Amino acid sequence: MPRSCTVCSHDLRHVINTELVRGGGNRRIAAEYGLSESSVRRHRADHIPELLARASEAVEAAHADDLLEEVRGLQRRAYAVLGAAEQAQEYRVALAAIREARSNLELLARLVGQLDSTLNVNLSVNSEWIELRALIVGALEPHPDARAAVLAAIRQGEITKNGSGAGEGP
Ligand SMILES: [Zn+2]
Repeated sequence: MPRSCTVCSHDLRHVINTELVRGGGNRRIAAEYGLSESSVRRHRADHIPELLARASEAVEAAHADDLLEEVRGLQRRAYAVLGAAEQAQEYRVALAAIREARSNLELLARLVGQLDSTLNVNLSVNSEWIELRALIVGALEPHPDARAAVLAAIRQGEITKNGSGAGEGP
């Protein structure tokens, strides 16, 4: 922002900018703040678009932060559900929680790496996912049928809610 712009260097530039963005007339604003009409016109044409672009970037960045925090909250809840389901040996619920946690991880990774939108998230090498998978497979140790079903579902890359086919007894 060049110093030579009398609007940009004005003590009340924030107020003036707000009025300009709201559609205030150049002549009235010039008179009200002791500026020349031509400098107000020049400032409106040359500097307001840049200010607006910067403001909208700031809003987008703030929105991305909010979204990230929200996804992190969901992730914490998914882990809590997973822990509770493990304790209660509710494997169907645990499977749903894994699926939830996994899609949250994907979203988180995408948000964190959003500067590169083409980033391809590979969960098979995501340490958090590996840890989670080990946790589940370990918890299912005393239940070989359920464990086999979970492992098969993980290998398929898709865990379905109806993955109870392995439980058909003799
Ligand atoms: Zn200016």
